[in-house]
Amino acid sequence: MAEKIGFIGLGIMGEPMAKNLLNAGYELVIHNRSRAVVDRLDGEFDGVTAAGSPKEVGEAVSVVVTMLPDSPEVNDVFYGVDGDGLIEAMSAGDLLIDMSTIAPATAIAVNAALEERGASALDAPVSGGDQGAIAGTLSIMVGGTAADFERAMPIFEVLGGTVTHCGDAGAGQTVKACNQIAVAVNYAAASEALVLGAKAGVDPEKIIQVLNGGLAASRVMELRGPTMIEGKFDPGFRIDLHRKDLGIIMDTGKEFGVALPVTALVSQLYDALAANGRGDLDHSALITAIETMAGFKVADR
Ligand code: NAD
Repeated sequence: MAEKIGFIGLGIMGEPMAKNLLNAGYELVIHNRSRAVVDRLDGEFDGVTAAGSPKEVGEAVSVVVTMLPDSPEVNDVFYGVDGDGLIEAMSAGDLLIDMSTIAPATAIAVNAALEERGASALDAPVSGGDQGAIAGTLSIMVGGTAADFERAMPIFEVLGGTVTHCGDAGAGQTVKACNQIAVAVNYAAASEALVLGAKAGVDPEKIIQVLNGGLAASRVMELRGPTMIEGKFDPGFRIDLHRKDLGIIMDTGKEFGVALPVTALVSQLYDALAANGRGDLDHSALITAIETMAGFKVADR
């Protein structure tokens, strides 16, 4: 018989992840703030039960996956309003798998609250974007106990391609923060390289080709370089979501006494783009900040 699990947060990432679990034979008890996606999945799949609150989800299953925007939403769903939170329904042996990107400190607090009840949590944020969510090839970085990691592995194998146990509670979120530093800084480097080279008169396609053949090679340049030089910035991963992650990163740096001067600078550039109405563009639109300062658009060359 198919295992029944809970799924809360059915947005750009959560909906295709839920569909992959349904197609793999899981039955799902689902909940989302806006109802349309719940009705859509309920109509499309036999194995779906709609729940009216996070607590209702928790009452029906012993394993719940969440895919929510940020720490406040995870706290809302977990602690609830007027006693309708997930925690009310979680007891010994239950497992929360939170796949949202949130502050490591929030992930640690949620796990501690569950451990008081004999339950537990895995923090399991992902990279790979909506394409990875649709294809079931996400990279999943996991914090929590080895036993819970093993228990969740069949679920992770449906959703992801690379699944890594990073350490104790919070470690998955910490690694995700490290990932987002590297991605942001890579975009800044690619943007400056492409604007300088193109304004100096070199074909930017040649710059991408040469850089990707040597030590400067990066997935950012390989995957997004071609669209950056064409001025195409459909998301993908929105600038506003990366700003959220940069906030988590800077707070975590403060918490552990680690200065992150380069990340802080890139964070300011993303803030400037958001202030100019570009928060809904893909994060590769960082190049437009460099272009504005250079008075030169690579796509107009
Ligand atoms: P989204 O905004 O599209 O989806 C979030 C969903 O959560 C929405 O359907 C919303 O209705 C629901 N929700 C919000 N608050 C709720 C509440 N209190 N109760 C119930 N449902 C609630 O976001 P997304 O792009 O799917 O991202 C989800 C997480 O994954 C974020 O933490 C994001 O940083 C991370 N992430 C996103 C991408 C990407 O490419 N979009 C890539 C990697 C990681």
